[in-house]
Amino acid sequence: MSDFIDTDVLIIGGGPAGCACALYTARSALKTIILDKNPSVGALAITHKIANYPGVDADTSGADLLKTMRDQAVSYGADYRKAQVYGIDATNELKVVYTPEGTFRGKTLVLATGAMGRTSTLPGEDTFLGRGVSYCATCDGAFYKNQEVAVYGSNQEAIDEALVLTKFASKVHWVTNSKPGAGSSGLETLMAAENVNHWSRTRLVSVEGDDSGVTGVRLQQSGESDPVELPVNGAFVYSSGSLPITDYLQGQIPLNEDGGLPVDSDMMTTLPGVWGIGDIRNTPFKQAVVACSDGCIAAMSIDKYLNKRKEVRVDWVHR
Ligand SMILES: Cc1cc2nc3c(=O)[nH]c(=O)nc-3n(C[C@H](O)[C@H](O)[C@H](O)COP(=O)(O)OP(=O)(O)OC[C@H]3O[C@@H](n4cnc5c(N)ncnc54)[C@H](O)[C@@H]3O)c2cc1C
Repeated sequence: MSDFIDTDVLIIGGGPAGCACALYTARSALKTIILDKNPSVGALAITHKIANYPGVDADTSGADLLKTMRDQAVSYGADYRKAQVYGIDATNELKVVYTPEGTFRGKTLVLATGAMGRTSTLPGEDTFLGRGVSYCATCDGAFYKNQEVAVYGSNQEAIDEALVLTKFASKVHWVTNSKPGAGSSGLETLMAAENVNHWSRTRLVSVEGDDSGVTGVRLQQSGESDPVELPVNGAFVYSSGSLPITDYLQGQIPLNEDGGLPVDSDMMTTLPGVWGIGDIRNTPFKQAVVACSDGCIAAMSIDKYLNKRKEVRVDWVHR
């Protein structure tokens, strides 16, 4: 039995770009899988009100609009799975994608992970990345069984990931410098967990370690003059920035100078069979309607590519 989960179209990222693409490919009877690390953390998911999406009520929240898009794609047959991608192998004809939930293989691959990434900013973060510093509790949590870890950040991703870590770590030190949003889900469960220690109004100043990896973090509490040296084995850092999320490409596709993913007018990258859509392109036009448009163009181009058509086929032309 194959260890791969095979599909025609593999989409990484379930934001408006990924969902719009999936809606079209699934409707064209192409087997479509969307892999999305968290439906609550993308740019549209955190948008309070989306007043400029054509045809949608100005009071609609980004999360509601995204849910409608996701449900619509699923209603046409797309398979939406919550899974964080940590690596790909896109150089062969079949594209392989690695997640803690399994290894996927697509005849085509669509990169739609948006631009909510950040550069490492904490002293020690780069040095100990992969040796105690992690951005994925679902991927790495099991390595910290019965050990103490620190989670830094107050956004939804930090809360979700800290909750995952409570199942493995003996103690989860949750460090927040700003208040978590009132509507954050899982907040009460996290605060009530026996093995969680919340350091509020506290900055994580640096990650400390030696040859063995992370040994601790240095914290600065508001109003206190001396920093706290906290011994931990893992540091999970979750703050959002505005850089294209491309770390999982591991250099397989050259990026633009600004970190954006270059594509042609069909949204295909420089690697045949791989498309890039939405904010990951890092254009100045970061809007939900543009992300959806990219997804539509990629889907029609994929249909042409997989079915070896000479032209793009639009479904309103009945010959
Ligand atoms: C605060 C804010 C307000 C905004 N307001 C508006 C507005 O009013 N109107 C408007 O049109 N646009 C607005 N935008 C812009 C708009 O939200 C984006 O242009 C749009 O969401 C981009 O879509 P996307 O699908 O490319 O990326 P995103 O919406 O960011 O979605 C990316 C998806 O990829 C997933 N992902 C990331 N990494 C991985 C991984 N390794 N594995 C699996 N999945 C992964 C994420 O979980 C996420 O679901 C706003 C953006 C922000 C940040």
